[in-house]
Amino acid sequence: MHSLTYLTLDKDVRQLRQSDLDAFTGQISGGVLSAADDAYNEARKVWNGTVDRRPALIARCKSAKDVQAAVRFAAAHRMLLSVRGGGHHIAGNAVAEGGLMLDMSGMRDVVVDPGKRTARVGPGALLSDVDQATQAHGLATPLGINSTTGVAGLTLGGGFGWLTRRFGMTVDNLMSVEVVTADGQTRTASASSEPELFWALRGGGGNFGVATSFEFKLHPVGPEIVSGLVVYPFAQARQVMRAWRDFCATAPEELSVWTVLRKAPPLPFLPQSVHGTDVVIFPLLYSGEREEGLKVAARVSGFGDPIASAIGPAPYAAFQTAFDPLLAPGARNYWKSCNFSKLGDAAIDLMIDFASRMPGPQCEIFVAQLGGAMGRVKADATAFVGRDATFIMNVHGRWSDPGEDEVVRGWARNVFKSLAPHATGSGYVNFLTEDEAERVEASYGANHARLQSVKQRFDPQNLFRMNLNIEPAPSAARQAVS
Ligand SMILES: Cc1cc2nc3c(=O)[nH]c(=O)nc-3n(C[C@H](O)[C@H](O)[C@H](O)COP(=O)(O)OP(=O)(O)OC[C@H]3O[C@@H](n4cnc5c(N)ncnc54)[C@H](O)[C@@H]3O)c2cc1C
Repeated sequence: MHSLTYLTLDKDVRQLRQSDLDAFTGQISGGVLSAADDAYNEARKVWNGTVDRRPALIARCKSAKDVQAAVRFAAAHRMLLSVRGGGHHIAGNAVAEGGLMLDMSGMRDVVVDPGKRTARVGPGALLSDVDQATQAHGLATPLGINSTTGVAGLTLGGGFGWLTRRFGMTVDNLMSVEVVTADGQTRTASASSEPELFWALRGGGGNFGVATSFEFKLHPVGPEIVSGLVVYPFAQARQVMRAWRDFCATAPEELSVWTVLRKAPPLPFLPQSVHGTDVVIFPLLYSGEREEGLKVAARVSGFGDPIASAIGPAPYAAFQTAFDPLLAPGARNYWKSCNFSKLGDAAIDLMIDFASRMPGPQCEIFVAQLGGAMGRVKADATAFVGRDATFIMNVHGRWSDPGEDEVVRGWARNVFKSLAPHATGSGYVNFLTEDEAERVEASYGANHARLQSVKQRFDPQNLFRMNLNIEPAPSAARQAVS
């Protein structure tokens, strides 16, 4: 029983009767939390430590039925609704101030069908849940590089990682989604059922409903792959980054090599004198045959004169957790990101210059190598449009002291501003911060108008707006389409 009888609701302020709240609580099998509950403060936390929002209610969903009840309740009472998958989005949209937050962490099931090479995944699953379950059968689907990220948010925004050059984006491996739409109905979206909704869900984020189950295509991977890091002194940055860029142009699709410009973490294979100094790190993964992988990966150690190289066979699931310690939750974070179709010398020089002036030891500039299979999919085949991105840069402003907020944010914004003329103009919605709503339309490019039409059909009142929001199509545009 909650003492809460009055909530600040969206648009109008409406009275919520205790009886409404009690009836709702009875419908949610994991229970409903308010500020009076002990578990409330832990449940409202998200990855980014700058986000400190207090939802009025947290519905702990355990089934699609719970989700239906929560969506209907939010719509009936005009509550601002948010959905928390893994809680990793930098903008913190998983939690709404004064709203109703759907906590999906009670729905983490992963069921693998090794014969069909598919996995059915719950909306609260983390990447580690999927990697562990699929690798038990020597299978995998392309996901991200930090094992505590939520599958739901990552997938709905596009999703890329070490296997993307070989097998495509996460959405390219999505076979179907079960989703509760704004009218409270559960729908199955796939190539043959609600195909337009399925198109929009593959990159359009949480704009179209609450996903309650994902079905993925799996591929044979590992369990042992070739992976590791090569670390160079910062003084060689210009030479090794150019060599890396040129190498990427012809690298096999089984291989992904990313660049990280940062201060050296205390890795055991690095001499102690290097810890905390500026370095260039090339993390890499080769998912094909072992001997070939060792041979190709060795070329990364030839970009210059490395401080250390730690490349060898390793379990895929283990490498998927390798970066977790550097990306632990709770720190303050601010990101700026852009896509590149080619990386010129001038862009590389700018990255190096800004990296030499990093405002703190946890900050970094990383550049992911894309292309390959993800780039062969047509830009209008899915809502995710950035198929021309051969590199994505993400400037990670990361710090602990709130007193440094503006310094770190300012640095990240300046990196972005200086690099923007070299970038495609598109962006990756999974990396956009809360002050970048104006970049949503450009990020979807030619797909934006179609997404607005799908939004108008499935969520005309914009119930799902705690996200990088796609507004329902304006009436003039609707008339033109119909
Ligand atoms: C440390 C770190 C590493 C990352 N690495 C990668 C990477 O390698 N590759 C990559 O592609 N991305 C990466 N990302 C970005 C990541 O894809 C996004 O942050 C993504 O939104 C995380 O999903 P989540 O479920 O954890 O987030 P949440 O914050 O829980 O959710 C994000 C948004 O997704 C929507 N959403 C979540 N669940 C549902 C649902 N069930 N139904 C409908 N909408 C829902 C909501 O709008 C929500 O606001 C990384 C992020 C972090 C913080």
